[in-house]
Amino acid sequence: MTQRHIRVLPPEVAQHIAAGEVVERPASVVKELIENALDAGATAISVEIRDGGMSLIRVADDGMGIPQEDVPRVFTRFATSKIHRLEDLHHIRTFGFRGEALAAIAAVAVVDILTRTADQVQGMHVRAAWGDEVHVEPAASPVGTRVTVQDLFARVPARRKFLKSPLREAELVHQTVVRYALAFPEVAFRLVINNREVLSLPKGTPVQRIGRVLGREIADNLLEISWDAGDLHVHGWISSPQVSRANRSGQFFTVNRRPVRSGLLAVILERPYAGRLPAGRKPVAVVDISLAPHFVDVNVHPRKAEVRFAQERSVYWALGQAVEKALEPFPRGEEGEAWPFAEAWGSLPAPGHIAEAQAAYVTERPRALAQWVNTYILAEHEDVILLVDQHTAHEQVLFEQVLAAPQKAVEFPRPVTLHLAPREADELTGLLPLLQDLHVLLEPFGAHAFVLRALPQPLVEANPSLVEGDVARALLQALLDEARAYSHLAPDALRERLAAKLACFTAVKAGDILSPEEQQALLDALWQTWSPATCPHGRPTYITLTREEVERRFQRR
Ligand code: ADP
Ligand code: MG
Repeated sequence: MTQRHIRVLPPEVAQHIAAGEVVERPASVVKELIENALDAGATAISVEIRDGGMSLIRVADDGMGIPQEDVPRVFTRFATSKIHRLEDLHHIRTFGFRGEALAAIAAVAVVDILTRTADQVQGMHVRAAWGDEVHVEPAASPVGTRVTVQDLFARVPARRKFLKSPLREAELVHQTVVRYALAFPEVAFRLVINNREVLSLPKGTPVQRIGRVLGREIADNLLEISWDAGDLHVHGWISSPQVSRANRSGQFFTVNRRPVRSGLLAVILERPYAGRLPAGRKPVAVVDISLAPHFVDVNVHPRKAEVRFAQERSVYWALGQAVEKALEPFPRGEEGEAWPFAEAWGSLPAPGHIAEAQAAYVTERPRALAQWVNTYILAEHEDVILLVDQHTAHEQVLFEQVLAAPQKAVEFPRPVTLHLAPREADELTGLLPLLQDLHVLLEPFGAHAFVLRALPQPLVEANPSLVEGDVARALLQALLDEARAYSHLAPDALRERLAAKLACFTAVKAGDILSPEEQQALLDALWQTWSPATCPHGRPTYITLTREEVERRFQRR
């Protein structure tokens, strides 16, 4: 990448950047520093920490370095060499763009930077501590940049209290380095914890890197996946059904090579393995999804750990297809199951045309204006008007909350008893483990009867009437009916159907009156979800009207 100078972003650009604390713990510091090194074109990155990162974090790279005249500005908030104009925000190809990380780190620690560019003979040393004056002086340095962070949060006891043990913090740093190491096999990585080298990864091919990080056994049993749909590419490696893990610790997703977390991507990945892996076992995957930058909104999350896709269904569809294709040669042990959103996907345009719906996709939280016919929330975002279906929107919010672990169950003030016919009682008994997994706690109570002791917290918070006997009984009946209708599904897929049913039952209904605050809160929550545009059944949660469409209809253009 070419060198650009560090400039302070004009206020109108800074305003568009999701504000938030980037420095939460040592691992978040390491993440920001690794990203800076990658943005600087490093081919080798060394990370060192002591005491879980609390006494020292050091990240050294062989990247392009910081030009002498820019060094005094590195700690200035919203000073960045990576974007300059508002339009740049829609075409982000670098990790950094906020110009916020170094300023935020220097506010809560002592930071030393040693740096030199290739065309300068003399390097520079700059120190900033606790948000104070910055000292700059010439110093000898190799080409590249070395950032040392000491005494993180030492003067911010409230933040320090939030940290886990040094051992656990070191583990989180380790996971962070691993995530970037898997995403960038062409870059050498090294990790030293308390003077012990725990990772030493030379540059290599993706498969070599996976072997070094996840083990030979995995590397010997990988299937390459690849799916091309116009602007959208899915590429990576997944484990063949011969190997698996007990949890999702071997699943790594990147979007345009930026590590992301998404429970939904994991669910889509795992579905084609149903009947091919023993129950409870999880596949390994290292997968990148690449899209034109303007289809991805990395700006939603202050730590950029989450991204949002325009046309998310195309992304999930492409991933599902790619995995399905690679697994085809491996026979299934049991009856194949229904693809969850098959109906909705069936009617989608070919995934190559994801540009079509782009104009109507709203990536930022809209502003609620009014409720219309007690069923829809009228909202605006820039020059788009939205009509949000309050029921499907709430359904999607609760669906993701119910599936997200960890969450708590709310115990009932008075346990609710449910009497069933013998056959129904048998069916419900079979569902108990799945329900327990969803924090619906039921216990057998004599012959053909059950006591409901607790329900998931997000549901009870959203709809306190759930703890009333009649309502709770109706909910259980609805779950039973749903389980019967989907009895052919594998446990994971059935669990999702039950979560969708719980969400549907609890969500506000068409006709419920919402106060302006409730309307906005619902929009806020919806735009926090992974998939704000679609409900768990694949129906849209909102429709839009753009200013252009309005002007066309008034024949202004
Ligand atoms: P951002 O990455 O969002 O631009 P940062 O606060 O992380 O903001 O960094 C500020 C600026 O300092 C970057 O834009 C870049 O110009 C420079 N910089 C930081 N780290 C490095 C590095 N390791 N190598 C080269 N330049 C760096
Ligand atoms: Mg940065």
